[in-house]
Amino acid sequence: MISIDGSIGEGGGQVLRTAVSLSLVTGQTIRISNIRQGRKNPGLQAQHLAAVRIATEISEAEVIGAELNSKTLLFSPKKVTPGKYHCQIKTAGSTSLALQTVYLPLSFCEKSSRLSISGGTHAAFAPSFDFLSLHWAYYLNSIGFKVALGLEQAGFFPQGGGLIDAQLSPAGSIRELDLIEPGPLKQIRGISAIANLDRTIAERQRQRVIHRLGNKYRLNDIRIRELPSNYKGTTLCLVCEFENSQCCYFSLGARGKPAEKVADEVCDQIEYLMSTNAALDEYIADQLLLPLAFGKNTSVFSTAKITRHLITNAEIIQIFTPARIKISGDINQPGTVSIKPQ
Ligand code: ATP
Repeated sequence: MISIDGSIGEGGGQVLRTAVSLSLVTGQTIRISNIRQGRKNPGLQAQHLAAVRIATEISEAEVIGAELNSKTLLFSPKKVTPGKYHCQIKTAGSTSLALQTVYLPLSFCEKSSRLSISGGTHAAFAPSFDFLSLHWAYYLNSIGFKVALGLEQAGFFPQGGGLIDAQLSPAGSIRELDLIEPGPLKQIRGISAIANLDRTIAERQRQRVIHRLGNKYRLNDIRIRELPSNYKGTTLCLVCEFENSQCCYFSLGARGKPAEKVADEVCDQIEYLMSTNAALDEYIADQLLLPLAFGKNTSVFSTAKITRHLITNAEIIQIFTPARIKISGDINQPGTVSIKPQ
C-alpha cells in the first residue's frame, strides 16, 4: 500500500486525482490522509467525490472514506474494465477534472470506453471544455492517445448542469515531446461564446481581443459560438499557435463583469506568455506530466511558469512510477521541465 500525505506541495485536489489515477494504472492500493489540507474547505468536495466514484466504478475498487468532507481515503482497485460509464457531479464541479482522473487507465485498456460526465464545463480554476478540446486533447492525441470529446451542454459556474462526452480508444505507444523553443507565432485563434445571452457580448469579447492584440499578432478565426445550456454564461478561449507548439488561455464571464474584462484576462496572459518565449502554458504543463511519465523516451519542454501544481504533480508521479522529473526555474517564473520515464 502506498501512503500519501495529501497536504504535500500545494495540498489541493490534484494530489488526490493524480494518486487515484496512478493507483488505477499500477493496481496499487493507496491511503491518502490530510486530503486538501492546503484549502479553505479541506476534505473531499463534490467534484473530488465524483472523481473517486467514477474511478471506483471502472475498477470495482474497495473504498473507505469516500464521503463529503472526508480527509482520508483508502482506495484499492481491481482490474480496470473499459466500457460505457456515466458520472454525475451535482454541483458546477469540473467535468474536465473528473475525466482527467480516469482517462489514463482507460486509455491503457485493450478496448474503447465512452464516458459521459455531467457537472461544470466552464468553471474557474480548472480546464474549461474548450481548453480541454482545443488544447489538452490536441496534445494527448499528438503523443499517442486517442481522445475524442463532445460538448452536449455547457455548464457554467455556479449552476453547472453541463454534459460532456469522451470517447477513449486504446492508446498506442506514448511519444515524447521536445518543446523548448516555441518558434515563430503563426496565429491566434479561438472561441468567443455565450449561452442564453445576447450575441453582442461574444462580439464585444472578440472586439476587445482585436483591439488589444490585433496590431501585434496575427489573429485568425476567432469564432462566435452560441452554446447549448440551461443557464447563462460567457467564455473566451484563445489558442496561440506557434511553429513548434501551442498555448491556450481562457476566461469566463460573470454577472456584472464587462465583456471587455473577460477579454482582458486572456490578453494579459497571452502578453505575459509572449514575454517568456515558453513553448507551453503553465496549465497544460502540469497536465502533461502524467501522460509523459508513460512515454518511451525523455520529454523536455519550457513553460511560461513553474507552478506549485507542477511541482506537486511531479512529486506524486515520482512516488508511483520510476519516472524522474527535473524542474528548473523559480516558482511563478518561466522554466523548463524534463521527464525521464525510467
Ligand atoms: P481544490 O479543490 O483543492 O482547490 P482542485 O481539485 O480544483 O483543487 P487543483 O488542485 O487546483 O484542483 O487543480 C486544478 C487543475 O486545473 C490543474 O491541473 C490546473 O492546471 C488546471 N487549471 C486551473 N486553472 C486553469 C486554467 N485557467 N486553464 C487550464 N487549466 C487550469
